[in-house]
Amino acid sequence: MGIKVAKFGGSSLADAAQFARVRDILLMDADRRIVVPSAPGKRCSTDEKVTDLFYACNRMAAAGESIDAPFGAIASRYHAIASELGLSLDLDAQLADVRMRIELGGGADYAASRGEYLNGLLLADYLGWDFIDPQQGIFFDEEGRLDEERTQSKLGALLAGREHAVVPGFYGCDTHGNVKTFSRGGSDITGAIVARAVGASLYENWTDVSGCLMADPRIVRNPEPIRYVTYRELRELSYMGASVLHEDAIFPVRIAGIPTNIRNTNHPEEPGTIIGYEAEEEESPYAITGIAGHKDFAIIAVEKAMMNAELGFGRRVLQALEEEGISFEHMPSGIDTMSVVVHEDVIAGKKERLIARIKELCHPDTVEIHSGLALIATVGRGMVRSKGVSARLFDALMRAGINVRLIDQGSSELNIIVGVDNLDFENAVRAIYRAFVVRENRENRW
Ligand code: ADP
Ligand code: ASP
Ligand code: MG
Repeated sequence: MGIKVAKFGGSSLADAAQFARVRDILLMDADRRIVVPSAPGKRCSTDEKVTDLFYACNRMAAAGESIDAPFGAIASRYHAIASELGLSLDLDAQLADVRMRIELGGGADYAASRGEYLNGLLLADYLGWDFIDPQQGIFFDEEGRLDEERTQSKLGALLAGREHAVVPGFYGCDTHGNVKTFSRGGSDITGAIVARAVGASLYENWTDVSGCLMADPRIVRNPEPIRYVTYRELRELSYMGASVLHEDAIFPVRIAGIPTNIRNTNHPEEPGTIIGYEAEEEESPYAITGIAGHKDFAIIAVEKAMMNAELGFGRRVLQALEEEGISFEHMPSGIDTMSVVVHEDVIAGKKERLIARIKELCHPDTVEIHSGLALIATVGRGMVRSKGVSARLFDALMRAGINVRLIDQGSSELNIIVGVDNLDFENAVRAIYRAFVVRENRENRW
């Protein structure tokens, strides 16, 4: 016994039929007492997410244009759900109020948050559960970061003693009392915060895939699900692009020692992925846990003979980045070379200034920025123990004819990161997957 917090993603609550599935799942287990809904997502690949429609409303309202079209689409999504489920709440009054506030300049965060707010109202009505507005319980500080202490105590107090509650995802309250959202996909973070606030025994994250998969299913066909992953591994995977769980959803539950279970709303019979602690480690059949990656990085390559002997050289390179407000991802270095890997978009419009400043501070032989790099992380807690993992990885890339432009083995020994051309990204992920999963399966079978 214990409280389970169940977060449902956008596609899990995209229409009335999905609402019915969600209710069945909730009623299946009496411990599922708090639910965190997202806004209605896509019903098919060509559909629009309600959150995107709300952002469009805000942009059009700010430009002085009519928001009839996107708002009409939003209203019909909610009306269809409410009428098919026979709900009694006054949806028209809610929609009219939201529309008025967007047109009066409520702003992007207010508009976007209404997707979750309205879906939460519908779900609370459907289930007959209490509705808790996170604007009263989740707080951000002056810098826009989560105010953990205030949130923990306020949200804990709001939820204390309630048998059942619906807490919409994705938003909270800034220091001026206005709505503020997390970054995209942030309902996962709300779920984790709520789980921590009530001391849940489990955080369930219900989505449209059967857990965290060994590779992005949009790149590899039918990847194997990961049965068990540690928080540290998942942090590496989600930071590097395994977008099934928002990277910031890991900390609140990890600190509180609460395991997370990623499950499939459309296949509740499947166990999904358990994310837990190293101590609960289970054997995995593969040498690696998963593969994730991202396109559009750049390498700032600085070269200078005898760089290794020059005191403070690295610090001065990083100082140039700091002055421009640029944070970096990785820094693989040699004796006479230093490479700093950054996201393409954080150096956009700053490249020339950055090169000039590095020249001024460090007097290098050369400094160049190479664009169009994709990074791929192969992650696994078992990698340290199993021999030949990197040999297998590089052999797979070589056989696929892929040129490796950068190698970085994180000091955590949890991952090997390779950099390849953007154009080779998908093929490289498939080659690594084949080497570690497909080949292993074949060998075990024969
Ligand atoms: P939700 O709306 O439920 O929050 P998301 O779209 O945010 O769902 O996340 C689920 C999606 O993440 C999947 O449909 C899949 O396309 C994508 N994805 C990317 N990498 C992975 C991975 N390694 N494992 C599972 N899903 C992944
Ligand atoms: N609805 C928000 C988004 O589309 C938050 C979420 O789905 O988690 O980004
Ligand atoms: Mg999501």
